Amino acid sequence: MRRAAEEADRQGFAALVVAPSPDLRYLCGYDPMPLERPTLLVLRPGADPRMLVPELERLLAASAPGGRIVDLVGWTDGHDPYDAAARMLPPEGRIGVGDRMWAAHLIGLQAVVPGARFEPASRVLSRLRAVKDDEELAALRRAGRAADETFRQILTARFQGRREEEVAADLADLLVANGHTSADFTIVASGANAASPHHEPGGRTILPRDAVVMDFGGELAGYYSDTSRTVVVGEGPEGFREVYDLVHEAQEAAFRAVQPGVAAQDVDAAARRIIAEAGYGDRFIHRTGHGIGLEVHEDPYIVRGNDSRLDVGTTFSIEPGIYLEGRFGVRIEDIVAVTADGADRFNRSTRDLQVVD
Ligand code: ZN
Ligand code: ZN
Ligand code: ZN
Repeated sequence: MRRAAEEADRQGFAALVVAPSPDLRYLCGYDPMPLERPTLLVLRPGADPRMLVPELERLLAASAPGGRIVDLVGWTDGHDPYDAAARMLPPEGRIGVGDRMWAAHLIGLQAVVPGARFEPASRVLSRLRAVKDDEELAALRRAGRAADETFRQILTARFQGRREEEVAADLADLLVANGHTSADFTIVASGANAASPHHEPGGRTILPRDAVVMDFGGELAGYYSDTSRTVVVGEGPEGFREVYDLVHEAQEAAFRAVQPGVAAQDVDAAARRIIAEAGYGDRFIHRTGHGIGLEVHEDPYIVRGNDSRLDVGTTFSIEPGIYLEGRFGVRIEDIVAVTADGADRFNRSTRDLQVVD
């Protein structure tokens, strides 16, 4: 919270206001349900942190790790919480608002502080959250290992003759069995479905020669895993091997491009170049990756146009793909961390093509 207030000051913000969200969890370890009753942490340069809380949640807030050092200001039902918030905010200047705050709360704040200019608090907080400390890196590494073990175990499962949703259920069970608190997403996209990156696993039965993209992850100690592997049933579809090797090579090239101080977009370009040179540039239909931590998708985005520099300790995915509509798709994804001399993979399961039954 002190570092956030200092960074806010450095960037010319008069205050930050954060509602229940991963930002609030990051700043003071408090994770209540976001509701219509506003809970608002207010950070101002040079002042102690204060949090507006519904009176009925005062005890809950006080029991959070940061609850002891935050000055709690209660409001009771029947009173206007935004008037109470206005008394905690500067009357003018730039106020950073947490990106996940409900629009209804922001509109409430805008009405009571008409002299202020509201901007996304991510301009301040993303920089802090992107660079993980040792404890956060350890949590992400554990989540990565649990996802790797999940992949190793799913390889022994039967694919052929089973529905995508059955394999997806296996993945969810394995994520939890390997230590995740919860499974968050389990994409299983087979045959032509694999050409849809965010395919929702359904009733399609997996057939011989199908390529199957699996993209799965969950939460472990507050931090997320997210990995993708593409496998084939038997010898795979026509033309598959060439495409698989390209994606594999592109993933490797992006990994090798990671260095402290490198721009996020340069990592994207490293993967894209390989795929474009082979003539599949227009079939790589998404960015190369996204930051990961308290959220599955967070800053920095590994995408053209993002010239922000990658610092040591930043964690993100590298997940190039090629998608051929009506035929098949391939994606390979690992979570990596920027180190002093390159990058460290948090996913170590094999990227060599695996044949399943
Ligand atoms: Zn995705
Ligand atoms: Zn993924
Ligand atoms: Zn991802």
